[in-house]
Amino acid sequence: MGEFELIQRYFTRPVRKAVLGVGDDCALLQPRAGMHMAISTDMLVAGRHFFADVDPHALGHKALAVNLSDLAACGARPLAFTLALSLPQAIDAWLAPFAQGLWALADAHGCELIGGDTTQGPLNICITVFGEVPAGQALLRSGAQPGDDLYVSGTLGDARLALEALQGHLQLPEAVLASARQRLERPTPRVALGQALQGVASACADISDGLLGDLGHILQRSGVGATIDTENAITLIAACACWTGANGSFEHTIGSPRALQCVLAGGDDYELVFTAPPARRAAVQAAARASATPVTRIGQIDATPGLRLRDAQGRPVDGNFASFDHFAR
Ligand code: ADP
Ligand code: MG
Repeated sequence: MGEFELIQRYFTRPVRKAVLGVGDDCALLQPRAGMHMAISTDMLVAGRHFFADVDPHALGHKALAVNLSDLAACGARPLAFTLALSLPQAIDAWLAPFAQGLWALADAHGCELIGGDTTQGPLNICITVFGEVPAGQALLRSGAQPGDDLYVSGTLGDARLALEALQGHLQLPEAVLASARQRLERPTPRVALGQALQGVASACADISDGLLGDLGHILQRSGVGATIDTENAITLIAACACWTGANGSFEHTIGSPRALQCVLAGGDDYELVFTAPPARRAAVQAAARASATPVTRIGQIDATPGLRLRDAQGRPVDGNFASFDHFAR
């Protein structure tokens, strides 16, 4: 199968939203009046972001999901994407499920493939997404104010837990591993929540490198600090990171450094961390209901720079919870 046959067979479909899709030198998009275009790129590299032998259907899903998560973080509605693919070999048994995983998520969000590039080389998938958001309504990292509430969507920590288990660093009960692995390999981008938070959230980011690191970006861009309530709030957003053993005992509790590490700095969660004034609590809950996405208030924004963790008694919680950084040494 040659390059153009491959593109035709797996990655070409008639476009509905774009003016022009796959097949020419450029694709054409027509932005609607009063809308800004939101654009983001994420690359997945074999051996770095995923195991080379991962289920190709899951990989197709995840490659697009991590990009849709960036659109979600700015409150944008997905429109289209491009796919740059470097493949060691053109194998039907890999390409067919990869394309199926990709199309399934694309269709679920009405996001269409409008172009890309295909080359032979080490397995590497780079997607660029295009979305739209009403002018002036995009959720940014820079809008958090002292006194704002701090929220997280869904649950955190499972992806990291699964990664550590798959790397052989820890042993998980089979059922715990299965559900944690689902979160690692098939993340759910919070696209509906992001759009529902337009005009409600004062700042927002998606959690790809770990809560503390991604929240840190909001704090830095907004020139503020934050306090997180670990014991109460963090317990609510920890999923498999805490689990109960067969005999009913807690095998892995939130108090353990490893569980806290997974939840606070795990990475690959693709949830949203956002802020909103206390006066908008009802609006935040309405956005959560409208998008069928749980949200938890985990702390607040302070004028004092820096990030503080405190326990149920208000005592500071120490720990070095470094987030993921590709070039950290
Ligand atoms: P160019 O020579 O301009 O780089 P190519 O010959 O590489 O274009 O690609 C031909 C067409 O196929 C272009 O419209 C391009 O956007 C599209 N395309 C290439 N690879 C992919 C892919 N993986 N998915 C979708 N479209 C692709
Ligand atoms: Mg090309």
